[in-house]
Amino acid sequence: MTTSDAIAVLNAGSSSFKFSLFAQADGDPFVVARGQAEGLYTSPHFVAKDGAGAVIHDKAWSPGTELGHDGALDYLVTFLRDRLTGHRLIGVGHRVVHGGSEYTKPVRVDASIVAKLEKYVPLAPLHQPHNLTPIKAFLERLPHLPQVACFDTSFHRTQPPVAQAFALPAEITDRGVQRYGFHGLSYEYVARVLHEYSARAAQGKTIVLHLGNGASMCAMAAGRSVASTMGFTAADGLPMGTRCGSLDPGVVLYLLDELGMDAQAIEKLIYQQSGLLGVSGISSDMRTLEASDDPRASFAIDLFVYRSGRELGSLAAALGGLDAIVFTAGIGENSRELRERVCRDAAWLGVELDADANRRGDGCISTHASRVSAWVIPTNEEVTIARHTRELVGTHADREYA
Ligand code: ADP
Repeated sequence: MTTSDAIAVLNAGSSSFKFSLFAQADGDPFVVARGQAEGLYTSPHFVAKDGAGAVIHDKAWSPGTELGHDGALDYLVTFLRDRLTGHRLIGVGHRVVHGGSEYTKPVRVDASIVAKLEKYVPLAPLHQPHNLTPIKAFLERLPHLPQVACFDTSFHRTQPPVAQAFALPAEITDRGVQRYGFHGLSYEYVARVLHEYSARAAQGKTIVLHLGNGASMCAMAAGRSVASTMGFTAADGLPMGTRCGSLDPGVVLYLLDELGMDAQAIEKLIYQQSGLLGVSGISSDMRTLEASDDPRASFAIDLFVYRSGRELGSLAAALGGLDAIVFTAGIGENSRELRERVCRDAAWLGVELDADANRRGDGCISTHASRVSAWVIPTNEEVTIARHTRELVGTHADREYA
């Protein structure tokens, strides 16, 4: 039987990871399997689906089992070997949240690169350590398997210095306290496919709204990031599922000094108890809020729409004009109501919504006469990682990794 080269893409969190297996093709790599392992330290559950979405493997361990990342990765590698025998793994691409100011593009990782990436753990304590865990596990277990790290920050390194700086003393800035921006792998994907939708959007001034559980916006000039709503951390900018977004720094001092909260409690507040969940007191999930008739749910959505409109205006100012806006990610791709409200509020910028097209929810959702066009483009961070990994790994048809 002939085997074809394949690339695995991993997105690891604290107690779970998502994976996709991409087969090589002349154009974009395509998915042959995807799935996730979750509850790694409490109640592990591994599910894999084929490219069409049908479940091909489902394994649950008894509650209390501590499979851990290492155990689950071993399970994944064995699964790929035993079940996907037509494909040979030639490399793994990892989503890594932080590449600091140094990593402006993806990189082949070895132990010395991992040591450098560990430096960014304090900048993204909730994500970076978990992103690095599978890299270290593979370096130990399968040292010859090529690995590539792709960063959520890299895409934004084209921003001008004024967009990346805080107005803080230079000695603080020099210690890495600057705006980094995130969701870069999603923005890179949109920037790459935008010309298939609109040459003007691809070459002009475009704002991409990545509205998911995490939400941010990016202003692009000819497909390059010039400004974004997220800053030093992924807590900045828009309100999100559970994150507050931009917050007057004086609030943090007040919480510390007057309400007696410590750093840990404030971190929890900012990252896990705020945003749609905190404001509504009901849910972080936009679907639940849209279905609710509780006024607190409506207010949480109102706030999300209002802040989206303000950030849109701010990014249009950074661009000095606007040709197109693009909605992507869970809310952006699926919530007609949300898109409609954001577009109506952006009428002053020149956006004229086509209500029927918006209901269909694919491609162009603005009228022909609209001065600023509006689009829905499904994002695909995994394929971006797979492409970079393929480029950096090359083809190793004659090489066995383990
Ligand atoms: P993540 O940032 O975790 O990748 P997603 O991009 O999957 O998040 O987005 C999750 C968000 O998308 C949730 O708030 C969810 O409610 C919302 N969402 C998904 N489908 C719909 C829908 N049909 N209508 C409204 N919101 C939706």
